[in-house]
Amino acid sequence: MTLPNSSDASSSVPAKKPMLSAPQALAFLLEAATPLDGIETVPTLEANGRILAGRQVSQLNVPPMDNTQMDGYAVRAADCAGGAAVLPVSQRIPAGHVGQPLQPGTAARIFTGAMMPAGADAVVMQEQCEAAADGKSVTIKHAPQAGEWVRRTGEDIRSGAEILPAGVRLRAQELGLAASVGLASLPVRRKLHVAVFFTGDELAMPGEALKPGAIYNSNRYTLRGLLENLGCTVSDFGIVPDSLAATRETLRRAAAGHDLIVTSGGVSVGDEDHVKPAVEAEGRLSMWQIAIKPGKPLAFGEVNRGEGKAYFIGLPGNPVSSLVTFLLFVRPFILRLQGAAHTAPRAYAMRADFAWSKADKRNEFLRARINREGGLDLFANQGSAVLTSCVWGDGLIDNPPGQTIAPGDLVRFLPFDALLS
Ligand code: AMP
Ligand code: MG
Repeated sequence: MTLPNSSDASSSVPAKKPMLSAPQALAFLLEAATPLDGIETVPTLEANGRILAGRQVSQLNVPPMDNTQMDGYAVRAADCAGGAAVLPVSQRIPAGHVGQPLQPGTAARIFTGAMMPAGADAVVMQEQCEAAADGKSVTIKHAPQAGEWVRRTGEDIRSGAEILPAGVRLRAQELGLAASVGLASLPVRRKLHVAVFFTGDELAMPGEALKPGAIYNSNRYTLRGLLENLGCTVSDFGIVPDSLAATRETLRRAAAGHDLIVTSGGVSVGDEDHVKPAVEAEGRLSMWQIAIKPGKPLAFGEVNRGEGKAYFIGLPGNPVSSLVTFLLFVRPFILRLQGAAHTAPRAYAMRADFAWSKADKRNEFLRARINREGGLDLFANQGSAVLTSCVWGDGLIDNPPGQTIAPGDLVRFLPFDALLS
């Protein structure tokens, strides 16, 4: 792996590094991420959110038998071709029970989900029938097509068909599908172990009184929530003071037993930003200036761990920057490590119902909300510390560098729903 803009300790004159575009930075990250080894088999009931480790093939047809979609009468369509037919009711077939073959010229009372009796080829819904008072015969008032209201064997899934490919992230519907073909357990990728810590002398924890000059460590809550949504096991090393020694010491502890370290703050190149030299001392690092707004600085590298290494990603401290850079870069990186087949979020072309007249030379990610007219409104304050914008908003507009937006323009919208799972 060659990291772009790797720091070169031998050069005494710091050259001005070109900024990476968001797609360039993402491509480097994804190339650097080697999917982790480790597969475990878990009960299907406990596989929600996990990444499927191998393709799943159905050993049976779904449905496994022809059955009725309606409460009504199972008939031979040919017996009812002439309109109102009066047929003796030969049997009653509730769901889960197997009837007798249907004799020509008779009807079977049948209930949704029940197996079609041999010889019957259609169901007439009960609303189109009139049962005799004694229940022994029925007037069929509708001439059905053969196959009407019949769910055919295998019409959902054929025996031998792939139902789920490897690398899919298991949601409720994937679990249901696996269960529908009788899979009681599934092979999934092992969980990623992620260590987090938060740099900043100004940080206090909710529950503590705020001293002058302090702010609450909101990133802890945001980042942990994001990581948990992705199915990671999170170890939290808490708030780390702005000192090189403390940062190095925490990095060493965090590398042990973890696949990835994610931090917030301290990744600029000011006197109080110690993440860069700390990672350089404990492993290796690339500091990237990414041409995005919010979230320009991002640190990426590795921290030594015995004979191995832990991946390292340092996010900026500003709460919106750290959320946005997580969604754009850390999320796909983690998905790749977890062996997910798809890492790109779903994006939609949507209509802007606002004007954005000051083009930025960077690629902006604007917080916006879907309005009742199906267009997008913009949050008034797009500041990188204004977390309110992300709670108000439904997602991010990916606005290319140098682009103004006029009302009615189509923009690329990334819904939080697609980014947060
Ligand atoms: P930094 O990236 O360390 O230069 O921090 C940039 C800004 O983000 C500063 O205003 C910090 O106070 C703020 N900040 C840093 N870490 C956090 C955090 N964990 N929670 C909330 N704000 C933070
Ligand atoms: Mg700081």
